[in-house]
Amino acid sequence: MSKSADDLLREAREAVREVWPDEAAHLIEAGVTLVDVRDQYEWDEGHIPGAIHVARGYLELDIEQAVPDRGAPLLLYCAGGIRSLLAARELHEMGYADPISMAGGFDRWKAERRPVARPPVLTPEQRRRYSRHLLMPEVGAEGQARLLESRVLVVGAGGLGAPALLYLAAAGVGTIGVVDFDTVELSNLQRQVIHATDRVGRKKTESAAETVRALNPDVRFVAHDEVLDAGNVERILAGYEVVLDGTDTFETRYVLNDAAVRAGIPVVHASVFRFEGQLTVFAPGRGPCYRCLYPAPPPPELAPGCSVAGVLGVVPGTLGILQATEVLKLLLGVGEPLIGRLLLYDALDMSFETLGLRRDPHCPTCGDGASTTAAAPAGIGAVAGGARGPDRPSGAGIGSALAAPLAVRPPGGHAGTSGGKP
Ligand SMILES: [Zn+2]
Repeated sequence: MSKSADDLLREAREAVREVWPDEAAHLIEAGVTLVDVRDQYEWDEGHIPGAIHVARGYLELDIEQAVPDRGAPLLLYCAGGIRSLLAARELHEMGYADPISMAGGFDRWKAERRPVARPPVLTPEQRRRYSRHLLMPEVGAEGQARLLESRVLVVGAGGLGAPALLYLAAAGVGTIGVVDFDTVELSNLQRQVIHATDRVGRKKTESAAETVRALNPDVRFVAHDEVLDAGNVERILAGYEVVLDGTDTFETRYVLNDAAVRAGIPVVHASVFRFEGQLTVFAPGRGPCYRCLYPAPPPPELAPGCSVAGVLGVVPGTLGILQATEVLKLLLGVGEPLIGRLLLYDALDMSFETLGLRRDPHCPTCGDGASTTAAAPAGIGAVAGGARGPDRPSGAGIGSALAAPLAVRPPGGHAGTSGGKP
């Protein structure tokens, strides 16, 4: 027996609760999951703040991903209240405990002068380019627009910066600054994948700009073709929201750290040594800074750079991409950034370990007594905090002052990083 539209609506009303916008507003305040089931173009013209968009067309397919918890209360709306009613009934049959439909829909909501959010407008080309981002509720059009407005500074277009730049540009980070004064050398190309053989001898900033422009014309590339030092760091950092530290000298890291703490800008830090890498996020006010970890740089003979010790080319690639991941998370405000945690990567074991880090209350840069003007890099050439070796403290001792950087390990000393590991 066929059913008329009236039959379907009557059945839906028997199975599903309907509320008017005033009650809907209370439910939204109480934290109900709000789902807009209208079409894309309707959503683009405005929606209820806090709603997620799961168009009616693929509702049954998409809802499980958008709202995995079937016990959670769910409030659906469309333009007039019919599509959401039918959708709610569908979800009820799929096992969602309490799908509610907003009677009168968005039209009535607007007519009652309730708040409306207007999503940023992406061009049709941007919709295609970033479609895999737009599909995810954690990014969506708002998140993508946020990325397009964001400003990230990458210090060093080398082993870490190269892969990070590729992915930040691909993701649509709107303004990317790059600090690098070097030129491309043949020996860079084993890992610095943003450069190319025919660019040997050219400025790294120029080469990186060329690749970034070819990859994504949405990106504004800002070249800082200079050596980052105490004299220019403040000017260079100004206006950036997040810094990706791809430097390889302790001096630059201290200069960058102290200025970023003063400016309140988070720094996503990584370093590599042969088959190993480490990664953390220094977020001023939310965790330790670089100086909390490494109060002073080790002597150069204990911290050889890649040009002395060598590095498996893919290792900075892995770490650079992890850095880019943390940058995107910070910009989007999703997930748990690696603040107060140090990730240790060992390519030979293919192991990842995480150590907890604490802010050092006596840190000259971010400690309780620190003045707003950070101290100059202290005692270059002196080892503080103890070099890592066979008798280094166990994991329990890692905290306000962590063990020395990876590069301080004795050559060949493949010491474990947590207390119990051989
Ligand atoms: Zn500190």
